Amino acid sequence: MGSSEYDFAGETVIVTGGSSGIGRAVARRFGDAGATVLVADIRESPKGDDDRAPTHERIERDGGEARFVQTDVSDSADLEALVEAAREFGGVDVMVNNAGIFRGGSLLDLDVETFDTVYETNARSVFAGCQAAAADMADRGVSGSIINTASISSEYAQVGHAAYDPSKAAIMMLTRVAALECTEYDIRVNAVAPGPVATQISTENDGSTTDRSAFQKQNPMGRRASPDEIAGSYLYLASDDASFVTGHMLYVDGGHAIY
Ligand code: NAD
Repeated sequence: MGSSEYDFAGETVIVTGGSSGIGRAVARRFGDAGATVLVADIRESPKGDDDRAPTHERIERDGGEARFVQTDVSDSADLEALVEAAREFGGVDVMVNNAGIFRGGSLLDLDVETFDTVYETNARSVFAGCQAAAADMADRGVSGSIINTASISSEYAQVGHAAYDPSKAAIMMLTRVAALECTEYDIRVNAVAPGPVATQISTENDGSTTDRSAFQKQNPMGRRASPDEIAGSYLYLASDDASFVTGHMLYVDGGHAIY
């Protein structure tokens, strides 16, 4: 992946959903930048990525320091234990709440249980992750950074997304409220809103999107991003370059939001 222009040496970064896709790329990029990375996921092995080594092993192979912490983000006790686990490395400095799932379904055919599952995994987890990390940072008097993975779906509705889009909209507003409340502790809270990214979740989302013309209707650049094209924005938001940026949702979307 190459060297990083950012320096996070001495900092501890948690990335939920770090076993694959965007989270894996973010975790690896922070590892390249010298951070100790806690890769938190419900499962260890990645699927469909550049190689099948677990993310923490890949970071170590690249010369970084990383641990895997099995975590179900829909369980707030797991998130508290995750933040506690970071204490072994001096405590969390950067919390990336990224894990998420997609379940398709429209208003008239989606069952309430599926809505709840999506909401708990995608949105309630961000509330609990922000809460656990901010409480710990405030306790330690650390001016940390929290970054949540939102989506273009946070603002743009699609047919068949009756569970996913509302869960992503909640992340946008949670980010804003948390940012306002955390200025008191010098903790910044931001979100990254990716457009379509070539990962497992986007295959589950819409298998038809390899058709370029159909895709161009949705995205001006007419393609999906690679996870690596999304990852750098997290390092920017966590860095001192973004010291006056909080409550922001940064689109990394190939122009989708202006289309
Ligand atoms: P992905 O499926 O490759 O990665 C999601 C990761 O989350 C997986 O490793 C999975 O094991 C983990 N996960 C799922 N449920 C979990 C749970 N309960 N506890 C802990 N970990 C869990 O997909 P991705 O595209 O990398 O998704 C990452 C984030 O990006 C998600 O929040 C998704 O909504 C968001 N996003 C993705 C796209 C896209 O097009 N791929 C676009 C916008 C936003």
